[in-house]
Amino acid sequence: MSALPKICFATNNENKLKEVKTLLAGKFEVVGLKEIGCEEDVPETQETIEGNSKQKAEYIWDNYKINCFADDTGLEVPALNNEPGVYSARYAGPQRDSKANINLLLQKLEGKTDRSARFKTVVSLVLDGKVEQFEGIVNGKIIAEETGTDGFGYDPVFVPEGFNQTFAEMTMEAKNKISHRGRAVRKLVDFLI
Ligand code: IMP
Repeated sequence: MSALPKICFATNNENKLKEVKTLLAGKFEVVGLKEIGCEEDVPETQETIEGNSKQKAEYIWDNYKINCFADDTGLEVPALNNEPGVYSARYAGPQRDSKANINLLLQKLEGKTDRSARFKTVVSLVLDGKVEQFEGIVNGKIIAEETGTDGFGYDPVFVPEGFNQTFAEMTMEAKNKISHRGRAVRKLVDFLI
């Protein structure tokens, strides 16, 4: 049996890694940052989701010479000039506290009639030094109160279009089928296999 081509997913998030390993099983050997010996923080200092995602993938290619992809995600709310966007993780401050981020978002949306929002993920792939990007979007709205206990981040206040449950009330499988990240990763997988 010939060895599978190795590709790094620039993440330390075990759930994301597991999900993508399953999607590429039998085609690629997907390894995380730890497995390539990358212990340092990968820089993400750009001002856009596209820029951060590319910066992370290129950092791994430049420093470890291994084919690599990275993801970056933001929540965009039109009534708030597309905030929090690239600052989604640290909206309420550097402590990256999801609860505080949600509270700030709800506070800023008080009295606004337009509560539409979208999650956007950009996956950047560096394959033999060449960059490709894949975007995944899910449209929805921000509800006034946290509902549901699953998921992470803004899931308890985000209801995707066409549904009446928040992401935090859905199983991971149901969420992955329609989510921003699921959509972007499926485009990556279609490109790779
Ligand atoms: P990351 O680029 O995947 O680390 O995402 C940045 C931030 O966006 C996270 O810290 C969360 O606040 C938010 N976020 C990303 N994906 C999701 C999601 O699927 N549900 C809810 N919040 C998310």
